[in-house]
Amino acid sequence: MKILTNYIDGKLVSPSSNEYIDIFNPAEGKIYAKAPRSCAKDIENAVSAAQSAFSTWSRLSVDERSGFLLRIAEKIEQRHQGLALAETNDNGKPLWLSKAVDIPRAAANFRFFATAVEHFCSESYSNEEITNYTLRQPIGVVGCISPWNLPLYLFTWKIAPALAAGNCVIAKPSEITPVTAYMLSEICEEVGLPRGVLNIVHGYGAEVGAAITLHKKIPVISFTGGSKTGAQIAQSAAPLFKKISLELGGKNPNIIFDDCNFERMISETVRSSFVNQGQICLCGSRIFVEKSIYNKFIDAFVAKTKELTIGDPLDPEIKQGAIVSEDHMQKILSYFTIAKKEGGTILCGGKTYEAADRCKDGWFIEPTVITDLGPHSRINQEEIFGPVVSVVPFETEEQALEFANCTPYGLSATVWTENLTRAHRFSRDLQAGVVWVNCWLVRDLRTPFGGMKQSGVGREGGLEALRFFTEPKNVSIYHGP
Ligand code: NDP
Repeated sequence: MKILTNYIDGKLVSPSSNEYIDIFNPAEGKIYAKAPRSCAKDIENAVSAAQSAFSTWSRLSVDERSGFLLRIAEKIEQRHQGLALAETNDNGKPLWLSKAVDIPRAAANFRFFATAVEHFCSESYSNEEITNYTLRQPIGVVGCISPWNLPLYLFTWKIAPALAAGNCVIAKPSEITPVTAYMLSEICEEVGLPRGVLNIVHGYGAEVGAAITLHKKIPVISFTGGSKTGAQIAQSAAPLFKKISLELGGKNPNIIFDDCNFERMISETVRSSFVNQGQICLCGSRIFVEKSIYNKFIDAFVAKTKELTIGDPLDPEIKQGAIVSEDHMQKILSYFTIAKKEGGTILCGGKTYEAADRCKDGWFIEPTVITDLGPHSRINQEEIFGPVVSVVPFETEEQALEFANCTPYGLSATVWTENLTRAHRFSRDLQAGVVWVNCWLVRDLRTPFGGMKQSGVGREGGLEALRFFTEPKNVSIYHGP
C-alpha cells in the first residue's frame, strides 16, 4: 500500500492529524494507496514556509526561476512511464491517454511558462510631461486547487505560471487522484527547488481546500472544479478581497450543419463526446444536428459509439476506461433514470459495463447516446460529466444558436460547417469562452482559456495567466514639458 505525504517547506511530511484518506483504483474498485487527511494546521505550516521563501524566490532573476521550471519539465519527461501509469491507476483513464496527453501536457505546462515568462512585458504610455510604465510584480503566496479529471495536467497548469511569475504556491490536488501530485513533490525535491516555494497539501476540499480559500495570507486563489464549489469559494474569498480565477463546469454545445465534412465531423464528435469517459470539462455533451442530416448522423454516430471498446485501462486496445469513483458513477447512472422520466430514448449504453478479470469490481459505464429530449430538459441543462450525450435536431441557424446558448454555462462550443460566414457569425454569437470550428480540443497554450456565465471567472493560459498571477502597479514619472 502506497502511503503519500504532504510536501511542505521542501520536505515530504506526514499530516499533522496523522489521518489518511483511502485512495481507490477505479478500474479495480479497490483501495491501493492512502493520502494525507490534512487540516488547517498543515496549511498554516505551508503558508509560513511559503512566506519565508517568497522574498528570495520573487527576487531571483527570471532566468533562474525559469531554469527550475525547465528542470521540472525534464524530470516529468524522464518519469513519463511511471507518471502515466500512476495517473491511470488513480483516475481510471486508458494508459495510452495518460501517456499521450496527460503527462506530456504536464511537462509542456512547465516548459511553456518557463519560456513565456521570458517574453512577459508590460505597457508604457508617454505624453508631453509624463511617462507611465507598469510594473507587474509577483503577489506573494497563492492557492491552487484542482480537480480529478486531468489530475497532473490541470494541477501544473496553475502551479507553473504562478511560480514563473515569482509567487510561492500552496497547492491542493483532488483527494480522489493525488498520486501524481505527490510524485511532483518528489520531482521538486530532486531538482532542488528551494524549500517553501511550492507546497503540496493533500486532503478533503471541505477541510484543506476551505482552509486555503479562507486563509488571510493567501491573497490569490486559482481554482478549477465544479460551479457549485466555485460559488462557495467566491463567497469565502469576496470579504477577504482575494483575487480569484475560477474555471468551472460546462454543458458544451456541438452544433452540426448539413454542409460539414461528415466523416471528419463524426470521428471528432465521437472523440469530443467520450474521450476520458466524457470527463473533460470541454467535452461536447449537447449535440445539435441540422434536421436534414439528423437520421444519417444518428446512424453513423451510434454505430461508431458502439465500436468503442470498454475495459482494463492498461489494455492498449481499450478506448473507454473506468469512471473515477463509485459516487461519480452513481451520479451518472442517476441521470439515466432522469432521462427516461423526461421521455428520452436511450439509443445505446445507459448502463454499467461488467468488465472482466482484475477489473471485475471496477466502475465502468457504457458510452450513452440519448435522443428525444428538448434543450430545456435536465439532461440538456445539467452537467453530467460522464460518457453521456444528448442529440437534438434543429431547423434553422437561429434555432441552433438559441439552443446552444440556453444553459447557465458558457465554457466551450464546437461548430461544424464549411460555410465561412456562418462560422464567423456563430463564433461571434455563441456564449462560450472557447469556440472550435471544424475541430475540437485543439489547444495552443498562448491563447486565453476559460468560460463565461457559470463556467467561470477570468482566463488562464499564456499572458492571461501571467497577468493573473502578478499585481500591476503603474508608475508615472514627471519629466517636464
Ligand atoms: P469539485 O468542485 O468537487 O472539486 C475541485 C477541487 O476543489 C478538488 O480539489 C476538491 O477537493 C476541492 N474542493 C471541494 N470543495 C471545496 C471547498 N469548499 N473549498 C475549497 N476547495 C474545495 O470538482 P471535481 O473534482 O468533481 O471536478 C469536476 C468538475 O470540474 C466538473 O464540474 C468540471 O466541469 C470541472 N472542470 C472544469 C474545468 C475548466 O477548465 N473549466 C476543467 C476540468 C474540470 P476534493 O476532491 O477533496 O473534494
